[in-house]
Amino acid sequence: MLSIFKRSTHTSERQLRKYRKVVQQINKLEPTYEAMSDEQLTNMTAVLKERIQSGEKIQTIIPDAFAVVREASKRILGMRHFDVQLIGGIVLTEGNIAEMPTGEGKTLVASLPSYVRALEGKGVHVITVNDYLAKRDYELIGQIHRFLGLTVGLNVPMMQSPEKQAAYQADITYGVGTEFGFDYLRDNMAQQIDQKVQRPYHFAIIDEVDSVLVDEAKTPLIVAGKTQADEDLHFIAARLAKRFKQGIDFDYDDETKATSLTETGIEKVEKAFGIDNLYDLEHQTLYHYMIQAVRAFVIFKRDVDYIVKEQKVELVDMFTGRIMEGRTLSDGLHQAIEAKEGLPITEENKAQAQVTIQNYFRMYPKLSGMTGTAKTQEKEFREVYGMDVIQVPTNRPRARIDSPDLVFDTIEHKYEAMAKEVAKRHQTGQPVLVGTTSILQSEKVVEYLDQHKLSYNLLNAKSVEQEVELISQAGQLGQITVATNMAGRGTDIVLGEGVEDRGGLFVLGTEKHESRRVDNQLRGRSGRQGDHGESQFFLSLEDDMFKRFAKEELEKFLKKVTTDDKGLVLNSEVSELTERTQRIVEGAHYSMREYNLKLDDVINDQREVIYSLRDRVLEREAILEQLTTMLSETVEFVVFDSCPPEDIADNWDFERIEQTMNGLLLAPVTIPRTLDKTTDILKLYEIPLADLLDYVESFADNEQVNQLIPQVMLSYIDSMWIKHLEVMTRLKEGIGLRSYGQEDPMRIYQREGLELFGRHYQKLRRNIASEVIGFMKRIMEQREALQ
Ligand code: ADP
Repeated sequence: MLSIFKRSTHTSERQLRKYRKVVQQINKLEPTYEAMSDEQLTNMTAVLKERIQSGEKIQTIIPDAFAVVREASKRILGMRHFDVQLIGGIVLTEGNIAEMPTGEGKTLVASLPSYVRALEGKGVHVITVNDYLAKRDYELIGQIHRFLGLTVGLNVPMMQSPEKQAAYQADITYGVGTEFGFDYLRDNMAQQIDQKVQRPYHFAIIDEVDSVLVDEAKTPLIVAGKTQADEDLHFIAARLAKRFKQGIDFDYDDETKATSLTETGIEKVEKAFGIDNLYDLEHQTLYHYMIQAVRAFVIFKRDVDYIVKEQKVELVDMFTGRIMEGRTLSDGLHQAIEAKEGLPITEENKAQAQVTIQNYFRMYPKLSGMTGTAKTQEKEFREVYGMDVIQVPTNRPRARIDSPDLVFDTIEHKYEAMAKEVAKRHQTGQPVLVGTTSILQSEKVVEYLDQHKLSYNLLNAKSVEQEVELISQAGQLGQITVATNMAGRGTDIVLGEGVEDRGGLFVLGTEKHESRRVDNQLRGRSGRQGDHGESQFFLSLEDDMFKRFAKEELEKFLKKVTTDDKGLVLNSEVSELTERTQRIVEGAHYSMREYNLKLDDVINDQREVIYSLRDRVLEREAILEQLTTMLSETVEFVVFDSCPPEDIADNWDFERIEQTMNGLLLAPVTIPRTLDKTTDILKLYEIPLADLLDYVESFADNEQVNQLIPQVMLSYIDSMWIKHLEVMTRLKEGIGLRSYGQEDPMRIYQREGLELFGRHYQKLRRNIASEVIGFMKRIMEQREALQ
């Protein structure tokens, strides 16, 4: 008992007292603003902005600002923020996460922090989970802000640059997180400064913050260019991979998803393609195709991770069960799945820019978020984003009953009991929502419902609008709805007439999700705003979760298990087994995200270097100076690289320096082979380099050169970055497998990643310098020829 008590993570009353005091202040101000005319109220925006400009802290602005927004909302929407909604608003304004169950009115809560933070004049981004909600909130909540004299923008895919720029210039901008991320990537591929659409980040409010930062964090956002795939190679690789067995032909690490071929596997590939050595450089592509083919078989399950529709592979979001429109896997993996399914092979995506959602949002100086379920992930939010999770009290006491899980011995028994329970509830008219973890499972569920002659609404991977429509019907008398856990998330289920008396909505979970958080989301669909409601999970010992993560414990448990005649497990320890297993799963997923984030951090630092260089070029910032810096650095790098001071002079490569430098310099330099100090060699280049820099300076007013340099720089920067991303992906693929000695693969990746970047970056500078200087020399020659 004590241990449970200690583990309790509830936000304490003491913490909340501080917020309640502010709420009192806001309430006290209500009569003042109620007495104001519309015009006076609108005018408050200017007054508050003024106070901020004169240095006043946001903290002390909150009472007036919130009171103003509440009054505006009363007049415009006829809704008065509840006190607990004000608390949520404060939590957000301070840059933390407000945990508020479904139905508490998070949309209205967001009107408060977005207003206050927008007063700072640097733009607020309000992030929703889909375009539908973005548009809804933009239209609904936007009315309050527009009334108060702020501008509001909507950022959705496919808009033209000028529209996007306008949306980002607005005080408050609504949109989906991925679109903001893609805009960032596209901005950093722009060829002209005026093509950029975003301005520097200031403050973001992320709705359903857990789903955005935790669930979606696994797939990075990728802007890709197309390249033709080798169809035959994909098909042969798929045919081979189909027969491959784990542990014999290939190894696969569940946690890191690292895949490698074993000696046996490699021999089979070599035989199939008639080659001697798969490790040869010339077979690198083949090796890569093989690995992707194997991954297509082991990682991706049809109707769970993807579906095949009209001869196309469509990815399924494992959390919503919804198709991720237009998203494809990159690096030939998508094509490998197509080959596995015998479909036409599409063009391959080659990453030109990529960022994870996590790293995108970490660029905001201040972040905040709302969700019904964050407390179980509190540590992660604090460590990765510096946000605390505050549980905001509900407006009305909660009246939902969460009944203990029922665990059955077999899957059949589970579904049979599920169908019987649904039928029983249905007879009384009580609406039932059956939650599943995948499309495949949804189909299983409805098979059993069919057998019991029950009619239902099945939500799987239909359009968002349809989902919203169907899920909002789920609370009507006699309705049975089958949906993946998060389908139509963010939509309220309003109870129909007479439902409250029948116990409210009954939510029946058919499998525990990989995270308790998602289970809680499912439960939270019932019992909104103090409604009656009930939730219960029906599980079986054959569920994936047990089989995958608690194999040994399960075997032990099976020896002593007792059941009734319907297969219901009677041993009381079963609840402990369930809880422990889910904790193991959560732990494994957390480590995987942590691992991926660490891997991504390596590229993240490099991206910052490249993008800031790119920005300086786009803004034509001291272009010649940048070029001269590149030249000086090139000399230094080449000299130190070819004649490292830590090596003896006998091993030095003088010729390499001469070859590289003589192309650049105005007159060739020969290095005396007797030199044995690196610094002496550097000295040798001092005067020629100074001459070269003078030469470059002499082009300062040359229009042609001024036009050309930025173009050359951009094109080299971009192609270097694309290539570098590709090499880094390959490095990452291989890294899980190489545990040289005792060295941590992460360390190898970090070290080699840094080394690769150093090389690529150096080559980039040298290429730019030599192209530009070559151009200058040609101009001079032409000029001389004319004279
Ligand atoms: P959540 O996102 O927290 O689940 P919503 O923002 O969808 O909740 O709001 C749930 C419902 O409650 C909506 O119909 C909304 O209009 C209503 N609502 C929210 N706040 C208030 C309020 N202060 N007064 C009246 N109705 C409210």
